[in-house]
Amino acid sequence: MRHRIAVVGSGPAGLTLARVLHRHDHPVALFERDPGPDARPPGGTLDLHAGLGQLALDKAGLLAEFQALSRPEGQAMRILDPAGTVLRDWRPRPDDRANPEIDRGQLRDLLLGPLDVRWGRGVTHVAAGTGDGAVVSFEDGRQETFDLVVGADGAWSRVRPALSSVTPHYTGVTTVETSLDDVDTRHPGLARLIGDGSLAVHGANRALVAQRNSGGHVKVYAQFRAPLDRHAQPDPADVEAVRSDLLALFDGWADPVLDLLRHGTAFVHRPLYTLPVSHTWTHVPGVTLLGDAAHLMPPLGAGANLAMLEGAELAEAIAAASGPGDLDETVRAFEERMWARATTWAKITTAGLERLVSPDPAQALALFDEVQAS
Ligand SMILES: Cc1cc2nc3c(=O)[nH]c(=O)nc-3n(C[C@H](O)[C@H](O)[C@H](O)COP(=O)(O)OP(=O)(O)OC[C@H]3O[C@@H](n4cnc5c(N)ncnc54)[C@H](O)[C@@H]3O)c2cc1C
Repeated sequence: MRHRIAVVGSGPAGLTLARVLHRHDHPVALFERDPGPDARPPGGTLDLHAGLGQLALDKAGLLAEFQALSRPEGQAMRILDPAGTVLRDWRPRPDDRANPEIDRGQLRDLLLGPLDVRWGRGVTHVAAGTGDGAVVSFEDGRQETFDLVVGADGAWSRVRPALSSVTPHYTGVTTVETSLDDVDTRHPGLARLIGDGSLAVHGANRALVAQRNSGGHVKVYAQFRAPLDRHAQPDPADVEAVRSDLLALFDGWADPVLDLLRHGTAFVHRPLYTLPVSHTWTHVPGVTLLGDAAHLMPPLGAGANLAMLEGAELAEAIAAASGPGDLDETVRAFEERMWARATTWAKITTAGLERLVSPDPAQALALFDEVQAS
């Protein structure tokens, strides 16, 4: 049976859902607010876990292509203290494919493939539970009706209010992101310091993390505890003022580490928000959520993985559902499974953020040791 399916949002969740439906020859309308795939910088690198993101790519028939693109060597991890002393230096075995890294832009292009995304179609709200399907309202004033609308529209979802009145809350931790280009030729000392994967330096209530992307590009994240309004001062567009502010915040840290900030090209403020750890809702026929729209959690390597696996699992279930009642039962069962798994990960990542940006940097080191040992 062919159901009328709308997916709102073309992030990892929406793209995986649409791509697996496409693989099952099931039609899908994928709506995205951005005017095109390159409307915004795609962001940094993602590590895709064997039992989560990689499983989703397998369900999409894309695992071999992922393996060709991804960077297993990116699993390397080096930990320094603020004085610049190397505390840990983990390198993956040559055959280790547990969590290879891939640039977000590469992952997006891989998933996009043959999909026909309706770009520039921002959704304003969804009305469901009134009988014949769910009605989607768009920013351009148009409306369309579907058997099922899937909100894959991220942290500030416009679909979520159809199911839940909950909104994200600030964690107390802000990330300021910057980047370095052509690091191997322009900053060879930093390139050696960062290595093939990630570098993390943890002090009291603050951290600096550098992650190598492909093509000599490095993303740098300064993380610290701060009131939410701190990011208004200095003006985020004033690159040199933000740089001075960050250098003052990390004053006393080793020079090679501070070079990550000295050479950063532009700065983007990202206060970290989350949804409550066990965010659920009363099931409403015709609409559901997945990914960050359902369970926004601290960025500790799980969000995109969960989003993709949920997209793949929901697509397989939709393709197998034989009638309207069956579709609704399928979505109900999907929600129960998603909530249970997401709650487990939300607990892990919430506790993880507390330890990574904590008054006692030894907490961060202990967490890394636990992850490496697991
Ligand atoms: C710095 C950082 C590092 C991270 N690192 C990792 C990592 O290594 N591993 C990992 O698993 N996770 C990581 N995450 C988390 C991960 O990025 C998210 O969990 C993931 O992107 C969620 O995917 P999504 O598809 O649910 O939502 P999003 O990626 O937010 O995609 C939502 C899409 O919906 C669109 N949209 C929004 N509103 C509308 C609307 N009204 N109408 C139409 N379209 C709309 C948006 O434009 C966007 O394309 C990281 C997050 C951050 C911030």
